[in-house]
Amino acid sequence: MHCTKGLSVGNSSLLVLLESCESLKQALQIQAQIIIHGFHHDIFPISRLISTFALWGSKDGLLHSRKLFSQLDKPNIFIWNTMIRGYSHSDTPLQSLVLYMSLLYRGIESPNNFTFPFLLNSCARLSSLRPGFQIHCHITKFGFEWDLFVRNALIHFYSFFRCTNHAQKVFDESLVRDIVSYNTMINGYAQAQQPCAALQLYRKMKDSDIQPDTFTFVALFSACSVLNDPRIVKRIHALVYKNLICVDSNMLLKTAVIDMYAKCGLMNAAERVFGTMRTSENIAAWSSMVSGYSQAGEVETARRLFDQMDQRDIVSWTAMISGYSQAGQFREALELFGEMESLNIQPDEVTIVAILSACAGLGALDFGRRIHGQFIGNELFGRNIFVTTAVIDMYAKCGSIDTALDIFYRIPKNLKTVSLFNSMISGLAQHGFGKNAVDVFREMELMRLKPDRVTFVATLCACSHCGLVEDGKELFESMLNVYGIKPEMEHYGCMVDLLGRNGRLDEAFSLIQSMPYEANSIIWRALLGACRLHGYTEIGKIAGCKLLEVEPNHGAHYVLLSNLLANTNQWEEARKVRKLMDSKGIQKPAGWSYIEFNGALHRFLASEKSHPKAKEIELMLKEMTMRLRTAGYVPNTAQVVFDVDEEEKETVVSYHSEKLALAFGLMNFRPEETIRIIKNLRICVDCHSAFKLLSEIYEREIMVRDAIRFHHFKNGTCSCMDFW
Ligand code: ZN
Ligand code: ZN
Repeated sequence: MHCTKGLSVGNSSLLVLLESCESLKQALQIQAQIIIHGFHHDIFPISRLISTFALWGSKDGLLHSRKLFSQLDKPNIFIWNTMIRGYSHSDTPLQSLVLYMSLLYRGIESPNNFTFPFLLNSCARLSSLRPGFQIHCHITKFGFEWDLFVRNALIHFYSFFRCTNHAQKVFDESLVRDIVSYNTMINGYAQAQQPCAALQLYRKMKDSDIQPDTFTFVALFSACSVLNDPRIVKRIHALVYKNLICVDSNMLLKTAVIDMYAKCGLMNAAERVFGTMRTSENIAAWSSMVSGYSQAGEVETARRLFDQMDQRDIVSWTAMISGYSQAGQFREALELFGEMESLNIQPDEVTIVAILSACAGLGALDFGRRIHGQFIGNELFGRNIFVTTAVIDMYAKCGSIDTALDIFYRIPKNLKTVSLFNSMISGLAQHGFGKNAVDVFREMELMRLKPDRVTFVATLCACSHCGLVEDGKELFESMLNVYGIKPEMEHYGCMVDLLGRNGRLDEAFSLIQSMPYEANSIIWRALLGACRLHGYTEIGKIAGCKLLEVEPNHGAHYVLLSNLLANTNQWEEARKVRKLMDSKGIQKPAGWSYIEFNGALHRFLASEKSHPKAKEIELMLKEMTMRLRTAGYVPNTAQVVFDVDEEEKETVVSYHSEKLALAFGLMNFRPEETIRIIKNLRICVDCHSAFKLLSEIYEREIMVRDAIRFHHFKNGTCSCMDFW
């Protein structure tokens, strides 16, 4: 751009040039020309300059416009609004509220209907609802209460905070409503996951003869993605055609349809729409498909689609990582996260929650701790309560219950939610800190937070792990009497477990008989487990038969029943159960254990020798067996139901996956380090007593997380007090 001095340039032609500037530098040159030609005494060119710089979208532009602004004696309301608008889109939205205050303070100009929507936008960006209420009062005070533009901004503002009641009130009291009012309100219901209210409003809109547009349907589809009735969902899709909106080339609408179907798990329907627009540019639609397949449990299909994508954004990565995490494929989730990091893609809050839950699933403490330090410790997501809940869950499940408690108690009281309490209580339960779990529950009551069904499952489970029979009974009673929550199968399961473990088998059995439902496998399983623990063969046999009747294809149940029989030396019966299992082609679930070492996860399978250090591990196992024997230890082989001789039984138990993992841990960990092992099944009696003794022999702390709870082995004892 060349603006040579001396050329006759008019005020208006300079402003036309200003419009077409492509860089800040060019705009500054125009400003120089305006000053050279003396136009800067006119308010019009100056206000255009200010607005160009303020809305440039960069920090430098905004700073420069602020300088120009501060040189004006009496900026008009148009210029004030421009500055407020500039700040409302910037990194410092608070500045727009500060400007508004000085506008009021000077008292020369009054705000107008354009001022308020920008201010509300700033409040939303600051996540502060309260100043928004004050802005609402000012709207009334300055007489813009009935302005449609302002009212729509208010509906949008309240919807943003999911205050649908307030939004609805503004909407209902409006004298005039346009398509934007309706769309904004339907969108608000979508955000708040209220599909019925959204549909009702849509009908009202049709009754008022307002023709829906693309945005109406995008909002409606988003609202209906939480419905799980395929018929209704398809009828809503059909509405688009009834309203004669052309879908074929409407990418926005198609993407919304796909997202709705995918979220409802209607993958065939989603696939049909997706097939008509499968272009690589449409990342959002691809991500919805990936997410839909993952949620529907078809993780491999999801991965195939994910791999076919040319471009991916954070939503696509997160969809795949959460998919793995929810499907229990935690290793794959961590691997994919690593891949994402290597491409320098920043995770968002949803990714962080998914990856923390994968760490929790695997017991990968080092990995989880790194995520905590890198993304949450520095306050990046630290204020988000969902993320904090996931962090606490991760530490608790990875065995660091102290860290979990520490973080829990540092959270300000007003931010604590029911699900945060639930995570903390179930963490304590898993570690066998029943008393603490009950205390945390009481704390929740004191805060007047209403416990939900999950809270009761967690707290009852905590009582059960610690033999707190009386506390448990009282809690169970209070469910219905105090909180009006009808006990469900899971709660009865906890109670049966609690009574059963404490040897009150008759009481447990009569509770089952008094239940308003037919007992499910979980309940019979709990009873059977208790019978095995206390050697109650008679009730045990009833429970076992019921269990096989309710769930005949679950290998673990056969194992449990045959173990009960084997424990009481009823070998013939045990063999029968075993045979029945074989005849049905059911495999005993494979036991595996994980141990995290140097940032890598080592997986061990029972009797498997494929680990690169298998030779050394075997030598270590031999040494362990020898030292155990010297200490007078006799292997407990009762759980081996194979018809094999004693010596062979001993070999079988000594190759259990957790023993392999422990051998590896003893070889590699420094003496002061706790050896942490994660096991998928319940730890067996033999490994349990061996681990107790080994913790004394090697003077090591060993921690095992099995399918039920944590065991902390130290100085020859276990934190579970042999009760699990
Ligand atoms: Zn074992
Ligand atoms: Zn234990």
